Amino acid sequence: MILPGTPETLIEKCVARSSLSDAEATFLFSPAFDTHRTDLYAAADRVRSEMVGDDVYLRGLIEYSNYCTCRCAYCGISAFNADIERYRMSPDEILSTLSAGYDMGFRSFVLQSGEDPIWREQDIVALVKTIKSRFDVAIALSVGEWPRSSLEAFRAAGTDRYLLRIETSDPELFAKLHPDSNWEARHRCLMDLKELGFQVGSGVLVGLPGQNGASLGRDLRYLIGIQPEMVGIGPFIPHPLTPLGNATGGTLDACLTFLALLRLYLPDAFLPATSAMGSIHPDGRRQALKAGANVLMPNISPIENRARYQLYPGKICLNDDALKCRTCVEGWVTAMGRKCNPGHGHIIRRSRPTNTAFNGA
Ligand code: SF4
Repeated sequence: MILPGTPETLIEKCVARSSLSDAEATFLFSPAFDTHRTDLYAAADRVRSEMVGDDVYLRGLIEYSNYCTCRCAYCGISAFNADIERYRMSPDEILSTLSAGYDMGFRSFVLQSGEDPIWREQDIVALVKTIKSRFDVAIALSVGEWPRSSLEAFRAAGTDRYLLRIETSDPELFAKLHPDSNWEARHRCLMDLKELGFQVGSGVLVGLPGQNGASLGRDLRYLIGIQPEMVGIGPFIPHPLTPLGNATGGTLDACLTFLALLRLYLPDAFLPATSAMGSIHPDGRRQALKAGANVLMPNISPIENRARYQLYPGKICLNDDALKCRTCVEGWVTAMGRKCNPGHGHIIRRSRPTNTAFNGA
């Protein structure tokens, strides 16, 4: 592989937010870069501190239904999987779970479910309105693809944020993984969310079969292009009860590399240290916080539901109640010299003086 510079100058190029070629992206995700990887993470950590400070923003995650009509090839709760017990929380159960989280100090929540047809547009609207009338909190929905008119209704009800991963910027790979959607529809949905004024979260899976360094570079370029307020990435972890059960999974290093690049190119974004990273390595979330991340999403769902909401196997925190998760997270974040911030955590857009426009390869 011939690079026009050294690994050091490549990191400088990323810090300056210059465009990356496919060859440079391939190098960044290759074993040849391994000895320089910690320098990239350290550069991202510096930009994180300079741009968004040392706070680690907490979002309380409530997984309220594991019913889903979709058959995403990597997902353990997809309609493919007839072997899991399904559950659906009622609005009252969701409200009491959120209320308990509120009493623990959380002021930002993520309501997540599969694409569950029993939860209609008007039900989600009613839930969000009730929450917003009773609690001073920020609400993010993570409930899949909806028509623009429904998204508009969710926004009008008071929803602050919406999380929808593009998963991959490659339409062909997307089609292989998502028999119930297509890339253009997913992209259109993300554009609708932006136009409707949501704080938008997107992201990709790292290590999917068919991905490589160059395609991850294109994923990065796509995310830079749409400028989400939050980007969540996770390693692909093969679930034995899915069509990709025998595939090879993604690595923590590839995830941390992608995360560090996100911090350099989207310096003011909220970047979570995801549970999936903590599930493939016991120190995964801590390492992510040292490579550019500034968000954690403790699971505050009722314990009896946790094991039934496993998009991937080996998910952490299945048996710890919400208070224990909150206390545990607070303990290790504080030990890192950082501070947990359970507040609303709205985006504050900042520009960097050294900004160089990212204009693709
Ligand atoms: S990834 Fe989401 S939409 Fe796809 S099958 Fe799983 S829960 Fe359903």
